[in-house]
Amino acid sequence: MKMADSDADVIVIGAGVAGLCAALSANELGKKVIVLESAPVDQRGGNTAFAAGAFRFSYSGVDDVLMLIPDLSSEEIKNTEFGTYTDEYIDDINRVTEGRADPALADILVGQSLETAAWLRENGVRFIPNYGSQGYKDGAKTKFRDESVVKISGGGMGMVDALFAALKRQGIAVNYQTQGVRLIRGAGGIEGVQVHSPDGERELTAPAMVIAAGGFESNPEMRARYLGPGWDLAKVRGTRFNVGDGLRMALEIGASSTGNWSGCHSVAWDLSAPEYGDINVGVNFKKDSYPYGIVINADGHRFLDEGADIRTFTYAKYGAVILRQPKQFAWQVFDGKVLDLLRDEYHIRQVTRVHADTIEALACELHGVDPQSFLATVKNFNAAVCRDVPFDPNVKDGRDTDGLAVPKSNWANTIDTPPFEAYAVTCGVTFTFGGLRITPDAEVVDSGGRPIPGLFACGSSVGGLFYFNYPGGSGLTAGAVFGRIAGARAATRSPSDT
Ligand SMILES: Cc1cc2nc3c(=O)[nH]c(=O)nc-3n(C[C@H](O)[C@H](O)[C@H](O)COP(=O)(O)OP(=O)(O)OC[C@H]3O[C@@H](n4cnc5c(N)ncnc54)[C@H](O)[C@@H]3O)c2cc1C
Repeated sequence: MKMADSDADVIVIGAGVAGLCAALSANELGKKVIVLESAPVDQRGGNTAFAAGAFRFSYSGVDDVLMLIPDLSSEEIKNTEFGTYTDEYIDDINRVTEGRADPALADILVGQSLETAAWLRENGVRFIPNYGSQGYKDGAKTKFRDESVVKISGGGMGMVDALFAALKRQGIAVNYQTQGVRLIRGAGGIEGVQVHSPDGERELTAPAMVIAAGGFESNPEMRARYLGPGWDLAKVRGTRFNVGDGLRMALEIGASSTGNWSGCHSVAWDLSAPEYGDINVGVNFKKDSYPYGIVINADGHRFLDEGADIRTFTYAKYGAVILRQPKQFAWQVFDGKVLDLLRDEYHIRQVTRVHADTIEALACELHGVDPQSFLATVKNFNAAVCRDVPFDPNVKDGRDTDGLAVPKSNWANTIDTPPFEAYAVTCGVTFTFGGLRITPDAEVVDSGGRPIPGLFACGSSVGGLFYFNYPGGSGLTAGAVFGRIAGARAATRSPSDT
């Protein structure tokens, strides 16, 4: 093996939002940082590059929003109800994770979300109001369906471009096609990492190492091993490079695992989408307007409550429910009353759609579905809709069903008005929830709870924050918050500590 010492104080493994933030914050403290990235330069940015860009943060009112978007016009301020989002953020995390989120990590995520967003802005990331995805008009006012009121300008790719530009300005080197494969731990802690690179096998030394290499969502073998049978068959929404290396390397040197290793963020994703994400289509394979229709499986049955909550609190768990259906697919069915409510992603060229003028004709178009059973499901569903509550697509309207084994709790509309459309979906994995156990200072701990000197982790390499589900827009925030902390803490470790 070719030996090549590095003169870095901190090595960051992985260049998504978490790794890029870690690199910038260690550099701010005057440390020499290098970043290792498995992907070639034209595929850089990890899952961060694929992200829609929703950014959930805690704010006390419009003044906090103005910290991130100082160029909001007075007209926009007057006509937008931003509201506030303080303790509700913690409540939302606790609710969707069924009370399992690590309280210390959740507090840090929420408590540092605003200041970290402001720091991202200082580093060139730009925010805009999340009008398109979350906003709706109520008279002259724009209101939001939930409190994820800002997004990154240019989406995930906008964030990646801004952060790589910041690294370049600071003179931080990124070594592409350089995959960390083994951590080197000596008596005093971390000493270096072995890498595969275009120059062959090398060892790079540094007293501090930040694992920011995502989860194991792109590794079918690990998905089947940890998420369970059938997960090898799921599609991957983002990068192909998050194959669990960061987790494996750390576990091999005694790191402790924590969190929901059998759980992941997964959504309804076009049945014909490729095995991994396609950056040109990005998030548009997602099919998120199911609250306005019904979702049926190969047996022609409904199997989930399409209207259980607003989209941002259900979409991340329904991919797993689809994966559990026979042959791992489903059809989302809509009638003419709601077609104009379908999100932009339903109008792309790469969509698996059928349409018909009668429900009987649609039944024959639903490939793989028992038509008679489907028609019976629609009939029973229509009969169960509580028509005395008005339909309101913008708020949880309470228009539900009565007496169905699988209820629909909001936005229940009869499926009876032509034209009819249906969209075929399967499970698309976004990122895995299980990961490394860290302290509030992002130090990776061993099975005895002691920090492994020099080893830090951030972003979706960390476990303990999300279980079963997740509040939409929290992944980029978590990556930035814990990336910034990990870089700053890694910078405080000097070679003499080893
Ligand atoms: C389609 C999609 C849409 C999303 N939309 C949103 C959204 O709107 N809002 C939101 O908050 N979140 C969203 N997310 C989730 C969000 O993207 C992630 O939570 C976040 O980007 C995680 O950042 P990260 O830095 O931990 O991981 P990543 O961005 O995935 O970065 C990990 C990096 O590590 C590299 N790597 C892996 N192994 C190695 C190795 N051995 N050596 C060197 N490098 C390695 C990878 O190549 C990758 O570049 C979305 C995700 C996807 C896939």
